[in-house]
Amino acid sequence: MRIIIATIFPNFVRVVKEYGVIAQAVEEGKIEIEIMNLRDFAHDRHRTVDDYPYGGGPGMVMKPEPFFELHDHCKQQFGDLYTILTSPQGITLNNKLAMELSKKKNLLIFCGRYEGIDERVKSLVDLEISIGDYVLSGGELAAMVICDAVSRFVPGVVEDESVKRDSFYNDLLDHPQYTRPVEYRGLRVPEVLLSGNHEMVELWRTAESLKLTALRRPDLFLARQFSVEEKKALIH
Ligand code: SAM
Repeated sequence: MRIIIATIFPNFVRVVKEYGVIAQAVEEGKIEIEIMNLRDFAHDRHRTVDDYPYGGGPGMVMKPEPFFELHDHCKQQFGDLYTILTSPQGITLNNKLAMELSKKKNLLIFCGRYEGIDERVKSLVDLEISIGDYVLSGGELAAMVICDAVSRFVPGVVEDESVKRDSFYNDLLDHPQYTRPVEYRGLRVPEVLLSGNHEMVELWRTAESLKLTALRRPDLFLARQFSVEEKKALIH
């Protein structure tokens, strides 16, 4: 899959593909991440991307032309696009949405700045996405969050088993993790993890995962249809 991020700050966004599993996946050609500068699609001497709002008021608004031209360019170069607008007014990103988006061939993400984007740009947009109920000064961090969360679901980017055990995949929070040493500053690794009994380890992990979910996300816990293994872990 290909993710294209349209921004006026390409260097800010670039780090999303320079570290960790995403960098590795890019290098191995499992995913393509293109970062495009909206200013390259502005034609005046100053490469202007913003203007005063009609009707007055504070701040500036992003002009429509660079978004439309960049969209035309990407469509011509890559084919069909699924276009996302980062916006605090959009639907909130979650794991299920990230998984859905990972099935798209070309994902184009628009980053807003200033007071936002000229409303007409929305005619190009398939979905507006928010990363939470707060206002950021620009869409770049939101685009990076979307890009990272979506990339994890592209086959081969992260080990399949690992993704399936992560929080939210199965509407549960992940269980606690430990590594060496066995004891540090009086804090010990739970004995069951040292037992070598895989069945007991799985039971413990399921129980911990359910406990954490009940405590921190009662909404998920109460909506859950428990499997036989989960019921067993709960009464253990
Ligand atoms: N005036 C806009 C409003 O109140 O809805 C906020 C504009 S904000 C200062 C500038 C840009 O940051 C937005 O166009 C959007 O791209 C991005 N942005 C801000 N908060 C966001 C959020 N919670 N999720 C996703 N993008 C956000």
